[in-house]
Order: sequence, then structure tokens, then C-alpha cells
Amino acid sequence: MVFAVVLVALFILRIVVATIVFLFILPDGDRCPICDEVTLRVQSRGWNTLMPWFRTSWCMRCDWEGLHRHGSVTPTTPVIRSPEPVSRRH
Ligand SMILES: [Zn+2]
Repeated sequence: MVFAVVLVALFILRIVVATIVFLFILPDGDRCPICDEVTLRVQSRGWNTLMPWFRTSWCMRCDWEGLHRHGSVTPTTPVIRSPEPVSRRH
């Protein structure tokens, strides 16, 4: 009985340690670690079910696929606003 408890505890500990190691290894944000291009978020049923706290990404330029930590995301369409509001005269 004690053996089973130790085995289960070791199994859980292994998952916790692997997750913590992953958190430090994986890149933050949404930039590709190879070519520094903005990656797209893709849906991967396996990874999203196993580790929903990671972001599955794909790079359009170099075809890199991998996991990212949830972090700052680069806006794809920069919003450019005119410095002054346009006045309308009738
Ligand atoms: Zn890339």
C-alpha cells in the first residue's frame, strides 16, 4: 500500500517538475525563437488538452511549430490615429 502511494506521489511530482521546467524553457510572448517573426496561434487538440496554460504557435516564415508561454502578444494591425480629431464644418 505504501509502495503505491509513493509511486503515485512520484508520478505527480514528475508532472509538476516537468511543468515548472517547461515554464522556464519556453519562450515568452508570440515571437518565433528561430527567426523572431510573429507567430500565429494554432489549435492543437492534444497540447491544448494536456497543457491549456501554454499557447501552441506556428511560424509562417520558417514553419516552426511549438509552445509559448502566455505573455505579451504583438498587435498584428497597428492602430494609427490622427493626432487631432477631424473637425467637421457645415
Ligand atoms: Zn520562424
